[in-house]
Amino acid sequence: MADRNIPQISTGDMLRAAIAAGTRFGQQGQEIMASGQLVPDDIMLGIISERLVESDAADGFILDGFPRTKKQALDLEELLGSMEKPLDVAIHMDVDLNILMKRLTGRRTCSLTGKLLNIYFSSQEELDECVHSGGELIQREDDNEETISHRLDVYRQQTEPLIGFYRSRGKLKTVLAEGSVDDVYQRLLDVL
Ligand code: AMP
Repeated sequence: MADRNIPQISTGDMLRAAIAAGTRFGQQGQEIMASGQLVPDDIMLGIISERLVESDAADGFILDGFPRTKKQALDLEELLGSMEKPLDVAIHMDVDLNILMKRLTGRRTCSLTGKLLNIYFSSQEELDECVHSGGELIQREDDNEETISHRLDVYRQQTEPLIGFYRSRGKLKTVLAEGSVDDVYQRLLDVL
């Protein structure tokens, strides 16, 4: 959340950066992610524990894409307990399945600017701007229909139960994540 100086910690972005940098995680991780499976919980705990002690996270952070399993949620609870920084809130971004499919299958990144675009939802001007300045619209390796359908199965089996988990902890807030980015952001601020 740039306007509040709180880092957004995306485990997916961190894993992609680790692969691009050719770290030890490298090829094994790339295969797991390209197939839409989850990276093992112990690796995720290691990554998140190292990240949360960095100085920019001292006054708070937003975790994006973590936890994704019950084990990760329990690990996180223990980790934050030991840091004396208990979780404030877990946000459930609620979105219709058809819209979600378009967000994923249509997602592109401009190779020049890194800007996130969508062939269904971005304006033609925004898409043209990238291409006309010599950029390419890149699709994530795991944003094809087959892998997406696998990712959604994994979500239903392993991640969706966390809604109940955080509800039972009294931490759950649901945000309707449909409509424009600005509208969703405003709804998010309203529940925080
Ligand atoms: P994302 O960018 O959040 O959609 O994540 C992309 C992929 O990275 C996922 O499909 C998983 O393979 C892997 N990944 C990201 N976060 C996690 C996590 N918390 N636990 C396990 N795997 C993860």
